[in-house]
Amino acid sequence: MPFTTDANIITQALDKFRSDSNTAKSPVLNQVAIDEIIQSLDLASYIQHGGLTDGKLAEFMNNYLTYALRLHHPAYLGHQCAATHEAGSLGAFVDAFTNNVMAVYEMGPGAASIEYFMVNWLLEKVGWLPAPVKQSERYEKRSFGGGVLVNGGSIANLTALIIARSKLVPEVWEEGSPSNLSILAPSESHYSIQKAAGFMGIGKNAIYTIDVDQNGAIIPKALQAALDRSKNDGKRPIALIANACSTAVGIYDPLDEIGAFCQENNIWLHVDGAHGASALLSSKHKHLLKGVEKADSLTWDAHKLLRTPSLCAALLVRDHSDLDSGIHQEASYLFHDKEPIGFDFIQRTIECTKSGLGVKLFFTIAAEGEEKIAAYIDGRYALAKEVYHFVIEQSDLECPVAPESNILCFRVQGSDEKQMRIWDKLMTEGSFHLSTTMFMGKRFLRLVFMSPHTTITDIQRLINRIREINKEIGNAVESPGLS
Ligand SMILES: *Cc1c(COP(=O)(O)O)cnc(C)c1O
Repeated sequence: MPFTTDANIITQALDKFRSDSNTAKSPVLNQVAIDEIIQSLDLASYIQHGGLTDGKLAEFMNNYLTYALRLHHPAYLGHQCAATHEAGSLGAFVDAFTNNVMAVYEMGPGAASIEYFMVNWLLEKVGWLPAPVKQSERYEKRSFGGGVLVNGGSIANLTALIIARSKLVPEVWEEGSPSNLSILAPSESHYSIQKAAGFMGIGKNAIYTIDVDQNGAIIPKALQAALDRSKNDGKRPIALIANACSTAVGIYDPLDEIGAFCQENNIWLHVDGAHGASALLSSKHKHLLKGVEKADSLTWDAHKLLRTPSLCAALLVRDHSDLDSGIHQEASYLFHDKEPIGFDFIQRTIECTKSGLGVKLFFTIAAEGEEKIAAYIDGRYALAKEVYHFVIEQSDLECPVAPESNILCFRVQGSDEKQMRIWDKLMTEGSFHLSTTMFMGKRFLRLVFMSPHTTITDIQRLINRIREINKEIGNAVESPGLS
C-alpha cells in the first residue's frame, strides 16, 4: 500500500484547504443536500470496488473538502470547537496510526505517560498539587490532584457528578441511587448537566436552580436559598455546579464566593470550565477564575480554546482519591495484581477502550509553547471586547452583556423571528457561520471567536451583510407578493 504517497496527497489537499480557509478564498460553509453529496463523492462505488488511492484519492479529497466546514476561516463564528493547530492534527494522526488505547498502561506506555504529564500540567494551572510521577510516592498517604482525559465536556461533567455522588453515598454502586438526591445549578448551565441528572437517575426535576443576575452569573446571596429549597424537599445535593464560563453568553460565575459557600456547607463544587478554563493559561485573564482551586472538580475542554482536535476534555479533581474510588469496576482480565510500573487510567473512566487523547493535546501545546497558546486566547478575548464596543455604538443593534470571554451575543432591533431569518439566510448562502441562542427570554445572534484569522473587519462585513438581509426581509414583509 502506497502509504507515504497517499499521505502526501492528503497533506497537500489539506494544506490547500488550510490556505483557502485562512485567506477566505472559499466560502466558510457549503451546505448541499445529502443525496447530492453522497452521489458526488461516489461513495457506493468505492465501497463496492475499493480503489481510494493515488489519483482517485486526490480527486476524492478535493471533492470532499468542498463540503467541509472551514473552522479556520475568518467568517467561522459558529460554535466552540477549536480551529485546530495543525501540529495537534498531526498528533491525532500519530494517535490514530499507533492506536495505543492506553487506559491500561501496557496498551500504550508512551501515550499513558504523556496523558499523566499533561493532566499534571493542567492541575498546576488550577493551583492543585500535581500527582507524583515516581511510583513509590503515589502510594504514600497524602493528598494530591488527579485527572483523566475523556471524550468531551459532557462526559467529563457526567463523570464528575458520578464521583461526587459516590462520595456522598458510598453504597450507591451496590444499592443504586437513593431518591433523595439533588443537584444545585444555575439556569445558565450547559444541558449536559440535565442529561447527567437523567442518566444517573437523579432526574431533571431534582436540579435546584440557583438565581442569576442580569448577565446570567450566579448571585452568591442566592446560594443559600437554593440549598434551603433542596433541604425543604428532603433532598441532599450531590454537587453544586458553577460555570467558567457559561455557554450562551460566556460569563464567569464568581467562583471565590461560591467556593467559600460550598466549603462552609460541605457541598461538592464542580466547576464547568469546558469552554473558559483555558483562561487559566493567561496572566491577563486567569483572574476570571479566581477561587477555582476551592472546587472539588473541574471540566476543561482542550478541543475548545486549546486548539486541540476533538475530542479532548480533561476532568480534574483536587483530590485524586475521589476519582480513584468513585468508579468501581471489576473485570478480571484487566484488573488484577500486577507489578505497578505505570498507571491505569481505566479506573477513572466511563470508557473502556480509550484513545491516547494526551498525545494530540501535547503535540498542540508543544509546537508553540504555552505562552503562544495563551496569547491566542488573549487575542480572541480581546476581539470580543473590540467587537462589543463597535456593536454598542450602532443604533440598530444591541448586546445583552459585555463579553468576558470570546463569546459575543447581539441582536438586530425587531422580533426573535427576524434574528432567525437573518441567521438562516447567512447559513444558507454560506457567507458566515454563526449560531443563535436564547438568553433571558430573547433570541440573539451569537459569535464565538475561535479562528485566529478573524478580525474586526470581518465582523464589520458581517454587520453590513446583516443590514442588507434585514432590508430584504423588511421589503418582503411589506410586499409579500414579491418575496
Ligand atoms: C461546550 C460545553 C460543554 C460540553 O462539552 P462537549 O465537549 O461539547 O461535550 C459543557 N459545558 C460547557 C460550559 C460548555 O461550554
